[in-house]
Amino acid sequence: MAELVWSEGMSVGVEAIDNDHKKIITILSRLIASQNSQDVDNVINQTFSELEHYIVEHFSREEALLEQFNYKNLDAHKESHKNFVEKVAQLKQQWLDNNTIEVRSEITDYLQHWLLKHILQEDQDYVGAIKSYQQIENYQQIKKAKHPFLRFLSKKLAQNVSLSKRVFITTLSPLVMSFVLCFILLSDSFQRYKNVSLIIGLHNVIEQVNGISHSLQAERGLSSGYSSSNFQDYADSLSKRRAITDDKIKNFLLLLNLHLDELVKENIYLYAKSARESFTKLNQVRLLLDKGIISGRKSNEAYTQLIEQLLYVSESLIHLDVGSELSNDIAAINAILSFKEYMGQMRAIGMGNITQDAQNLLENKEIIILLGKQLSSIKSFNNSANDQQKLQCADYCDEKLVSQIIEQYYTHIVSKHGLNERGDAWFELMSQEIDNIKLLSDKLIAEFSLKVQAESNQIENMFFWVAVILTVFLVISILFALVLNYSIISPVRKLTYALDDMSAGQTNIQFKNASRNDEIGAMQLAYEKLRRRLLQADIYKARVSDQQKEIQYRKSQQDHFEQLALTDALTGAVNRHHFNDLLGKEIANVNQHGKPLSIMVLDIDHFKSINDTYGHTVGDQVLKVFYQACKDAVRSSDVVARVGGEEFVIVMPDTNLNNARHFAERLRSSVAQLAIQIEHHLISVTVSIGVSQWHPELFINAETFIAHADNSLYQAKNTGRNKVVIADAPSA
Ligand code: GH3
Ligand code: MG
Ligand code: MG
Repeated sequence: MAELVWSEGMSVGVEAIDNDHKKIITILSRLIASQNSQDVDNVINQTFSELEHYIVEHFSREEALLEQFNYKNLDAHKESHKNFVEKVAQLKQQWLDNNTIEVRSEITDYLQHWLLKHILQEDQDYVGAIKSYQQIENYQQIKKAKHPFLRFLSKKLAQNVSLSKRVFITTLSPLVMSFVLCFILLSDSFQRYKNVSLIIGLHNVIEQVNGISHSLQAERGLSSGYSSSNFQDYADSLSKRRAITDDKIKNFLLLLNLHLDELVKENIYLYAKSARESFTKLNQVRLLLDKGIISGRKSNEAYTQLIEQLLYVSESLIHLDVGSELSNDIAAINAILSFKEYMGQMRAIGMGNITQDAQNLLENKEIIILLGKQLSSIKSFNNSANDQQKLQCADYCDEKLVSQIIEQYYTHIVSKHGLNERGDAWFELMSQEIDNIKLLSDKLIAEFSLKVQAESNQIENMFFWVAVILTVFLVISILFALVLNYSIISPVRKLTYALDDMSAGQTNIQFKNASRNDEIGAMQLAYEKLRRRLLQADIYKARVSDQQKEIQYRKSQQDHFEQLALTDALTGAVNRHHFNDLLGKEIANVNQHGKPLSIMVLDIDHFKSINDTYGHTVGDQVLKVFYQACKDAVRSSDVVARVGGEEFVIVMPDTNLNNARHFAERLRSSVAQLAIQIEHHLISVTVSIGVSQWHPELFINAETFIAHADNSLYQAKNTGRNKVVIADAPSA
């Protein structure tokens, strides 16, 4: 009986239960071992008791676990346990009542089958229950993609893109899309950022332009004074101012030529060009003025033109789209610069006019025009400036106040100063105002510069944080992709390898830590079920094959014993008992078909002396050689039987007496020629033979037939041995 042994593949993954199974298998092995021995009843009793005890213990352990995990088939499982416990008690009684090999074998077989089924089938469900695998049973509910496009797409993907790549694409593509989206959203900010950086670059230019225009305004005022009657008073101041202006222009040109960013250069190219032209014009105006070729009025106009050209440079910045707040600031600054410029123009024009006899400001048309221009500058300042800037501007931003102040100045100077002093006094007062406005414009420019810097920092910060957040997203997405890879792709690969190995006959690979509650876990469980089915089939197959081998072995044993029963153990010749059967059958056959049948009886001559001379063992060898000689000489249909110590009979069917005699003679002669080599002896033997043919009408039975041949043998012995004697047919 093939025996059930534990293999790792039988593990259900719960150590305590595996140990129980091992223990039960061991007890069963002991029972099987006792099956072949003649153990006394109390040994069997003891083994069975141990089995019963252990099974009950195992079942209660198992049931407790099942209860803990709410196993749905618990009642059915308990019932099967109860039935089995009862069955074991019955089997024990059966064994004790019926102590035969067949019954014992049947009982152990039953127990082993039950145990194998219990471990590999029932406990499979049980493992599923304690690990909460329910999904696999719901596989029918798994939905197929109904939409043909979705089906087509998933088929194409499955054909061309590996699962790991699909996981990476799925996790990373939203990220890539958000990257693109971010760039689209940021591109507007990026444009603003570029403009703001440009403004930072231009800021220097604005400051310098402001400085030059301011200096030109002063120069214009002085030039106006210079060209009037008392030019000597102004000559000094004017040449100093010209030097300051030239210095500023020199610095500005240096900035334009060398220290300016390419981007800024590109943007102010046209204004820089016209500024350069203005500087050339300025020298011409100065020359003409010094030579007295142009009047104060003309020089005023020329200066005004130059200053306006310069202010145009900073005004142009309003056209850059840098956000409303910065644009408003630029507009406010430009408005103040214009306001200052009109004040400067007023200073220059006033110097010439106030000396004349216009007693009232309102009579001075040119100043009235400039006042109008100033008011429009104030309006545009008020439109663009914020509250704080307006506060800083104070009286200058009040349209009514400005006109009133200027009118008061005018009236004051006309009433307090003589004709010659009026120009100077006007210049003084206006210069003070212009300086104040310069302070204000410088302040506004400084604030603007800070704001631009802050805006640029803010945008840079935003870019930085966007980059940081995107990087974090990227890292998280890659992490997700990796996690998905490890939690999906790796187990799928492992399952594939395990299935591959299983197809090659390996059924011991288990997913021991298969505690996953997801689809992969369900796949592992399905794999595990399949593995156990195959393992069970393998074990059954091995058992069947073992049983077949055993049957074959038993058959060959049986054949062997049967052979032993029919033949003589020493020589292999047919034994006396079987010979009697065969001869009886042959005689019956001959009687029926009327064919001839002869026998010869052979007795080795003086065999006793061989024993005496060489010993009994050598005698045995001689008997074997003799038998082989007979066997070699006869036909396959003839039977050689050993009927006594050194007595043989050969039955020759289909042979008449004459043929039998020839054959006996030939055999006698060949025996006599044998030189038998045993150990270091060379032995020769002779044989005496009596021959007889069956005559149904003369012989009563086989015994009389043999006795007839024996009689001839007796004659051969008596007449010198080593002879063949043919018996006469007995008289009827
Ligand atoms: P005869 O020529 O008259 O036949 O003389 P014999 O010595 O052969 O005849 P006998 O019957 O006196 O002796 C037969 C001997 O054969 C006696 C016995 O010891 C021996 N013998 C019988 N069976 C066996 C056997 O199986 N092995 C051996 N070695 N000797 C045997
Ligand atoms: Mg003899
Ligand atoms: Mg004898």
